[in-house]
Amino acid sequence: MANLESVHRRSIEQRDEFWQGEAKRVHWETPFEQVLDFTNPPFARWFVGGKTNLCYNAVDRWLDAGADEAALIWVSTEVDERKTYSRRELFDEVNATAAMLRAQGVGPGDRVLIYMPMIPSAVFAMLACARLGAIHSVVFGGFASVNLASRIDDAKPKVIFSADAGSRAGKVTPYKPLLDKAIELCEHPPQSVIIHDRGLHAFEPVAGRDVDYDGLRRAYWGQTVPVQWMESSDPSYVLYTSGTTGKPKGVQRDTGGYAVALASSMDYIFGGKAGETFLCTSDIGWVVGHSYIVYGPLIAGMATILYEGTPVRPDGGILWQLVQDYKVTVMFSAPTAIRVLKKQDPALLKKYDLSSLRALYMAGEPLDEPTAVWISEGLGKPIIDNYWQTETGWPILAAQPGIEPRPTKFGSPSFPVYGFDVRVIDEQTGQDLGANQKGVVAIVPPLPPGAMSTVWGDDTRFVDTYFSSVPGRQVYSTFDWGLVDGDGYWFILGRTDDVINVAGHRLGTREIEESVNSHAAVAESAVVGVADSLKGQVAVAFAVLKQPEAYESDDAKSALEREVMKVVDSQLGAVARPSRILFVNALPKTRSGKVLRRAIVAVCEGRDPGDLTTIEDPSTLQQLKETL
Ligand code: ATP
Ligand code: MG
Repeated sequence: MANLESVHRRSIEQRDEFWQGEAKRVHWETPFEQVLDFTNPPFARWFVGGKTNLCYNAVDRWLDAGADEAALIWVSTEVDERKTYSRRELFDEVNATAAMLRAQGVGPGDRVLIYMPMIPSAVFAMLACARLGAIHSVVFGGFASVNLASRIDDAKPKVIFSADAGSRAGKVTPYKPLLDKAIELCEHPPQSVIIHDRGLHAFEPVAGRDVDYDGLRRAYWGQTVPVQWMESSDPSYVLYTSGTTGKPKGVQRDTGGYAVALASSMDYIFGGKAGETFLCTSDIGWVVGHSYIVYGPLIAGMATILYEGTPVRPDGGILWQLVQDYKVTVMFSAPTAIRVLKKQDPALLKKYDLSSLRALYMAGEPLDEPTAVWISEGLGKPIIDNYWQTETGWPILAAQPGIEPRPTKFGSPSFPVYGFDVRVIDEQTGQDLGANQKGVVAIVPPLPPGAMSTVWGDDTRFVDTYFSSVPGRQVYSTFDWGLVDGDGYWFILGRTDDVINVAGHRLGTREIEESVNSHAAVAESAVVGVADSLKGQVAVAFAVLKQPEAYESDDAKSALEREVMKVVDSQLGAVARPSRILFVNALPKTRSGKVLRRAIVAVCEGRDPGDLTTIEDPSTLQQLKETL
């Protein structure tokens, strides 16, 4: 068995040879002439001259290996429906959708914006774009009109693919009025809008612009659309970052590098095998959904589950039921989803047959130790924390059991992934730091295959945003703090703008949060640094309780506040103790489940919270204000 460090070293030092080997995992219609062109740093072009297609690799290529095997499994607990598409059926659907898009004038390089709930036609649309060489831009379904309008103006799509409505926790969200409003607001309206009418919410089509998906599907059923072979560096999609720290950035992804990176990650990191089933609980509107609901599993010949619903409806056992029903071997979720489950009956974890499941992967935000321990003990399966960003497209740090199985450590996303020359550096000097020293997590370019090629339409912003933050050294900054312990395990300590400076002590908000969360009554928390005339900054904690009804009275609340402070004192020292611990029903989060710290800080300091377009529930901020 290979050794992790030696594989990683080879991927950096014998880069061309390493990726030449990995590239064999996908189909190349025309072989590439050069593995990497890095003559114009920091822009990297992978597999130069090679021609391939994401749709071909995800769909067509697997037909001969078993056309009747499952490819896409749709489960909706919102509309109470389940449907399994075989590889052949997926092929037919994707071709019909490609034919309808082609008839709308969509061709190579054109953008198609996809504003859809978690339903199969959304996946058909993504794959159909890939088939045509068109660039998709999936916008999280249910985003407000302003978000949508700014993304329309940035991507300038020829066609928008949408639906009448989505549904969440049994509540219908009409999409059509949001979309109409967005098109009204934007400066670059699309030529046409294809609407999948699910019959959830009645609407009036706009004459001359809106077309009906079902009608088109019938009209184009049975047509086969030839695959458009794309040069490896041609963009496959544009996806906006989550907007946790500010204005979202349009991440541009290539074609060939992405296909190779995903194919290799399915083997080395996820250990998924053709014919098995993958369950990823993310949304197609996020990068995790792009890479590990749609492209990754399909490129690896796996069936993938598209789940429309929440983790707690009809009850907190639904995800485990899916694992049982579809014999899921690999599952991918986010800490935010597991924290929700923590509030449910733990017996639900034991109710289903989970013998098929090998491991649960988690990413998107720090996986705190109490949550990790809870789920790992509950499932009795390995929990694999992995760290990455919309920008990188696939994990930067992860356990890689497909290369060499190693024990994991709670709170650590393990080790650098091959291809990523990742370092912890001093933000002032740009120097590499040693073991146990905190610094910025940075990647020495070139970024590996699959990572972003540039900011859509703005090369300057790409260089300025990501490669210009450290004086004198052109490295890609993740804008996250990290450290490597004496055993080589990596830890992510929070975002670079989440460090608090209390009377000259630099404290990571994440460490304080972990400490607050370790109190048995706390489900989750957010710690922020608030300006203070005496100390510069003080830490303020907002905590959500597992059983708020047990702490209704003011006395109970202040007793608990003192208890939690004592926990922080004993774990991190009095300097890290939050000046206040306030109890709220929910934290303000982005739609992707990340805590909006900048907005919390602004509210605490009595300032305007700024851009709130990506917030999930504005009433959480209101409640926070009232608690203060
Ligand atoms: P924006 O860049 O628009 O502010 P965002 O950074 O939240 O939004 P994403 O690309 O979805 O957008 O999230 C990537 C970030 O999520 C990482 O930079 C890191 O801060 C955090 N993250 C992801 N996975 C992990 C993990 N396993 N452990 C700790 N943090 C993680
Ligand atoms: Mg980010």
